Amino acid sequence: MLDRFEYNNVSPRVVFGSGTLHELPSMLQKINATSVLILCTPEQISTAETVRDLIGDAAASIYTKATMHTPVGVTDDAVQVARELGVDGIVSVGGGSTVGLGKAISIRTGLPHLCIPTTYAGSEMTPILGETEDGRKTTRRDPKILPTAVLYNVDLFSTLPVDLTIYSGINAIAHAVEALYANNRNPVIELLACEGTKALCEGLPVLQTNAQDSEARQKTVYGAWLCGMCLGNVDMALHHKLCHTLGGSFNLPHAQTHVILLPHALAYNAPAAPQAMAKLASVLPESDGDAVRGINALYRRLGIQLGLKDFGMPEKGVDEACDIALSNPYKNPRPLEHGGIRELIRRAWAGEEAR
Ligand code: NAD
Repeated sequence: MLDRFEYNNVSPRVVFGSGTLHELPSMLQKINATSVLILCTPEQISTAETVRDLIGDAAASIYTKATMHTPVGVTDDAVQVARELGVDGIVSVGGGSTVGLGKAISIRTGLPHLCIPTTYAGSEMTPILGETEDGRKTTRRDPKILPTAVLYNVDLFSTLPVDLTIYSGINAIAHAVEALYANNRNPVIELLACEGTKALCEGLPVLQTNAQDSEARQKTVYGAWLCGMCLGNVDMALHHKLCHTLGGSFNLPHAQTHVILLPHALAYNAPAAPQAMAKLASVLPESDGDAVRGINALYRRLGIQLGLKDFGMPEKGVDEACDIALSNPYKNPRPLEHGGIRELIRRAWAGEEAR
């Protein structure tokens, strides 16, 4: 029996595969972009130069100042550069920080935005934009934020350091986990969530021992794409809200914060979301039918043992984080209770195993 559901899918046009970068000129033609500003971080200039060389005269310039959490000052500067150059398109090549800058420019200017992702964060598949100004991060959702086209070239992921590959891959799994118990979940999103999680669980351990395994790389990028669709199409809950709160308040790194909090948010919600947990357990290796056991086993296998304290969050921050987390209510399978949420944050802070 299926309960009533609603299904709305938002997605850019997607091209996926190995060696797909050479399709960029024809993809730009399809979105009527003849002169583009290429965006990257200072660490990925050489990748942006590869893109520039590939599209020749269509590359107006490279803007290299993409920054984590999309500061509005950087966006204003990039918009001015785009206007001075008179470009008719944006190409972002990089992780969520660079894609975020592309979205921020596109929503302000109406320019088409083609993404070439190089991490598993999934921002390229969402109509969501988080921006920071005066130390405050605000997030908005607007269909116009969704990129125009996405080119997944799995080869570009091979330079991502192994630890970041693992953290970023788990970040993607977190989207799928919360999609399975989202208040507006539907059977299609559940399929994507399970398939995405399965692909990542198969690929990540292989990449950890052989970072150049191309089949495992394909699997993980494919999984991240599916998980990104989950993030873009249904509402996230406790896990993502906590990551947002803690990341912003204690300046914690994005992917690592998601990794640390995921098992604890999952364990907190498990009693209130038995069907979601059963679906998740069915695709987590070594779960024996128990999703929390499965996620703990995955972490042990990948050697993940991190706490928020490792990233500079002070112990007194546990109470502060708990107060902030409870001050802004949202839909979550299990009601937010002070004692349980405080213990969740404390365990995540200390780096203890979830239960
Ligand atoms: P990131 O984009 O900040 O990248 C981290 C570092 O890794 C950067 O220095 C980057 O240049 C480098 N890097 C990226 N790919 C590489 C590769 N293949 N090889 C070598 N180096 C590489 O990290 P992220 O986790 O992808 O993104 C985090 C940001 O994205 C946060 O600001 C987060 O809020 C945002 N985000 C937004 C959404 C959304 O839907 N709006 C979704 C996910 C993440």
